[in-house]
Amino acid sequence: QLQRVGFIGLGNMGSRMVNNLINAGYEVSVHDVNSDAIEKFSKKGIHARETPFEIAESSDVIVTMLPSSSSVLDVYTGPNGLLHGGTLLRPWLLIDSSTIDPQTSRRIAAIISKHTLKEKKGSLDVPMMLDAPVSGGVVGAEAGNLTFMVGGPEEAYLAAKPLFLAMGKHTIYCGGSGTGSAAKICNNLALAISMIGVSEAFALGQSLGITANTLTKIFNSSSARCWSSDSYNPVPGVMDGVPSSKNYDGGFSCKLMAKDLGLAAAAAEDMRLNCPWTRQALLTYSELCKAGHEAKDFSCVFRHYYSGHDE
Ligand code: NAD
Repeated sequence: QLQRVGFIGLGNMGSRMVNNLINAGYEVSVHDVNSDAIEKFSKKGIHARETPFEIAESSDVIVTMLPSSSSVLDVYTGPNGLLHGGTLLRPWLLIDSSTIDPQTSRRIAAIISKHTLKEKKGSLDVPMMLDAPVSGGVVGAEAGNLTFMVGGPEEAYLAAKPLFLAMGKHTIYCGGSGTGSAAKICNNLALAISMIGVSEAFALGQSLGITANTLTKIFNSSSARCWSSDSYNPVPGVMDGVPSSKNYDGGFSCKLMAKDLGLAAAAAEDMRLNCPWTRQALLTYSELCKAGHEAKDFSCVFRHYYSGHDE
């Protein structure tokens, strides 16, 4: 039922996710505004389409993996977008895996609910929408072990699960429309704040005469233990293989962290929730980007704010 997949957005994440879908035997057609990104696939004999609408016309399910809320809206509602051509829709399931704000996810789901299917799927005559952002980064996309956080109708989630598992290892159903997007930005918000917290505490500890290695042992067997201390330590030399030990190269960039914090800050404002640490974390990562570190891993907050030396 979900054999023909239309995939839009062939960047760092999307291109790797498409490879895993193809390897799993799905019949994939692709679209991107960047012709170089498309060419990599058309050279391998994968169907490339000129517009999102053409993708919609030849697919049972659509997956979008795009940079921003505005690009997702454009692909759905723009000229020659997925929804171009009235209220009849070919694909019965639309999945957006981009990291965007929950409000936009809900808005698109509401627009889609006003459509009907060109061809009924069993008893289903309206298309369904899932917001299904991922964690795991480029490495997880390549290895096919992403985690999908999914919001939308539960029956759609259950139907899409095999597709998610072709690109990932874990899927978590979060609830109604927009809750997948909410889960993603909340996870990254907590991650940013914990990374800044661990960095600040380590800087203080070091200046008080405790080595980073000793403090790591203390944290990891005490109540301050967290992913930023036990799996992704920001202090160079404490752990092998993490970005802090590779000049903060690779990993999850400050630019993407600042983007996700911007989404969290906007959502908090929308909800009229006072979130001072969200604002502070956004400011910190925006400053890092402005200072030229946007491509560095987000754990470089330790080096630039606290260790007193720059690149
Ligand atoms: P990217 O910038 O590498 O790729 C985005 C692709 O979308 C590009 O190929 C671009 O040409 C294409 N695109 C942009 N606008 C378009 C449009 N209107 N129509 C068609 N194609 C369009 O981004 P990425 O790193 O692959 O990330 C994609 C999404 O996944 C983002 O929302 C990002 O926040 C999220 N994400 C990224 C990571 C990561 O580590 N890179 C991790 C988790 C989530």
